[in-house]
Amino acid sequence: MKKVAIIGAGAAGLTASVILAREGVQVELFEQNSKNAKKILVSGNGHCNISNKNIDVSNYISDNPQFAEYALKRFGFKELEKFMNSLGLLLFCKEDGKCYPLSYEAKSVLSAFEETLANLDVKIFNGHRVESITKDKCFTLTCNDNEKRYGGYDALIVASGLKAAPQLGGNDDGLKFARSLGHTISEPYPSLVGLHSDSEHNGMLSGVKVRGRICVYVDRFKEKSIKGDILFTAYGISGLAVLDISQTASKALLNHQEVELSLDLISEFNPQSLSAQLLQLCKKVPQHSVLSLLSGIIPSKLAAVVLKEMKIQESMQALHLNTKMIKGIMNKLQNYRLRIIDTHGYKHAEVCGGGVNTNEIDAKSFESKKVKDLYFIGEVLDVTGERGGYNFQFAFASAHQCAKAVLNGFS
Ligand SMILES: Cc1cc2nc3c(=O)[nH]c(=O)nc-3n(C[C@H](O)[C@H](O)[C@H](O)COP(=O)(O)OP(=O)(O)OC[C@H]3O[C@@H](n4cnc5c(N)ncnc54)[C@H](O)[C@@H]3O)c2cc1C
Repeated sequence: MKKVAIIGAGAAGLTASVILAREGVQVELFEQNSKNAKKILVSGNGHCNISNKNIDVSNYISDNPQFAEYALKRFGFKELEKFMNSLGLLLFCKEDGKCYPLSYEAKSVLSAFEETLANLDVKIFNGHRVESITKDKCFTLTCNDNEKRYGGYDALIVASGLKAAPQLGGNDDGLKFARSLGHTISEPYPSLVGLHSDSEHNGMLSGVKVRGRICVYVDRFKEKSIKGDILFTAYGISGLAVLDISQTASKALLNHQEVELSLDLISEFNPQSLSAQLLQLCKKVPQHSVLSLLSGIIPSKLAAVVLKEMKIQESMQALHLNTKMIKGIMNKLQNYRLRIIDTHGYKHAEVCGGGVNTNEIDAKSFESKKVKDLYFIGEVLDVTGERGGYNFQFAFASAHQCAKAVLNGFS
């Protein structure tokens, strides 16, 4: 009987374990945490956004942009749904394409995997952190349990994820393994994460939430533009639209490039008619302060900051607000600039960009081009998806391709 070791019981490692064990391979799964797949459990706010109906390689960032295409084409949403059904799990998709377990509970995904693996007698070594790997004829792993060795593996699959969310087990062990076996890596960086700005108004704006449009400028060139929720925080900015542009910003910061955001905080309104309405209000309530007048249109904290930046006294009476000032206020609201100096860090990131250099990995089998029978799957690779179920889909698709290739190698 062939024997395979898998490092990491996350989405990728669990999937590869099931496919291999179903074909009679002896699988031994090593997981440093006492519990499996902690990230599945917290994903999608506890609902697990497991996949997306609209999957395309353009939803992923990598130094090797086409790398994921082969796997995603062969194992897309339909194939994933069939696989999940085989574990006893039903899925549903929302109108925007995001897919979830029908139960809408992330824990149902993990229990479907765990029941299946228990029935297949897959040995899971929980609390076993793999510390090093050697290869002679077979692979041998050394773990943290008094440096005990586990050996005799015909193939080894590294599915240990990356550095995002260290509180759930995120680390860069996979990169250390890759380096020790002759691979190069693309520098990791936090992604799908809040961004720190150097604005003196961070504290004043903290808690303000608006729907708007964000444009990211890298070294003054417009790179990406997205509409959605923007949340001001004590450190800078977060919210779903910010997470969506954070990949671009974080990667640019890693490369020591200048990152600036332009926020359109009134993108839901017509600025001309808003200006006209504001002018009318000034005539209706000329004695009111400009702060109270503006606070009827935009959040009061934002109104206070805009007036401060425009050097207009909050207490100034509305009758003094002229067309030029109104135009200035509208321009500020349509093009509110923030210089980004950092991300909110790995602890708060949903994923980690960068990873094992995919030029050294076969895109069909996920086998290392440097070491025979060594495979890398999931987030440990330099493939990072957008928000919306794309990261799990890549973890599942790469695991599927890899497991099939391991089986082919054995036949
Ligand atoms: C808060 C949060 C919410 C998210 N929500 C979504 C979502 O809704 N949809 C989506 O698509 N993606 C989501 N993601 C991203 C998604 O969870 C990851 O992309 C995905 O889990 C990657 O799967 P993986 O199996 O490659 O790695 P992981 O899930 O990270 O699994 C790797 C496993 O390896 C273990 N490990 C690491 N080193 C060792 C070692 N040396 N020895 C033994 N074990 C080791 C780790 O403990 C871990 O259990 C979310 C992430 C976070 C943090």
